[in-house]
Amino acid sequence: MRILVVEDERRMANLLARALGEEGHQVVVALNGLEGFEIARSAAFDLIVLDGMLPGMDGVAVARRLRERHDRTPILMLTARDTSADIVRGLDSGADDYLTKPFSLAVLLARVRAVSRRGAIPRLPFLEVGDLRLDPATRRVTRHGEAVSLTPREYSLLELLMRNAGRTVTRGTILDSVWGFGASVNENTLEVFIGQLRTKVDGCEPKLIHTVRGAGYLLEEPKE
Ligand code: CA
Repeated sequence: MRILVVEDERRMANLLARALGEEGHQVVVALNGLEGFEIARSAAFDLIVLDGMLPGMDGVAVARRLRERHDRTPILMLTARDTSADIVRGLDSGADDYLTKPFSLAVLLARVRAVSRRGAIPRLPFLEVGDLRLDPATRRVTRHGEAVSLTPREYSLLELLMRNAGRTVTRGTILDSVWGFGASVNENTLEVFIGQLRTKVDGCEPKLIHTVRGAGYLLEEPKE
């Protein structure tokens, strides 16, 4: 699964990312609520592990804002205190499940498996720009009806651009969403990935991926 971990305590965030990564999940970490919200709304995840206590926008606010946007991504909320008021507040905000800190890693992983089994994940509609089509449910990408084979990272990059079709996606947003916050990736690496993506999905006319000089990238069908 693709999992977004929103946790401001770096040690805990790293621990979660490593443990979930070892279970075979693809993990993106956000270190505050606002960043978590921005990443969650710009890319698709199968699960969000959301700390309740975050500086700025707290976990309850993040969950509520995502639900207001009709984002039904399952949310596992981490609550600091085991009081019923906190738990009710978390679940009322739209979280699907909660875990009280401190928790054992084994319990967290079991809860993550339970969420994935419950399949609360709605089938996402496919994305289409011109003759480029991406199906988030099967991760299948076609251009002009021909299947395109992408690496997981190329796929994430393309999905991010397609979800924001017609809008410039900044380099910073791409690095945070596709590589994860704080990943040491330089901009040349990003250019290489964009180049590979262009070769694979944009080798024919019309060109869909456009460079917005000094800002980022934009995917859209050219207007006549
Ligand atoms: Ca916290």
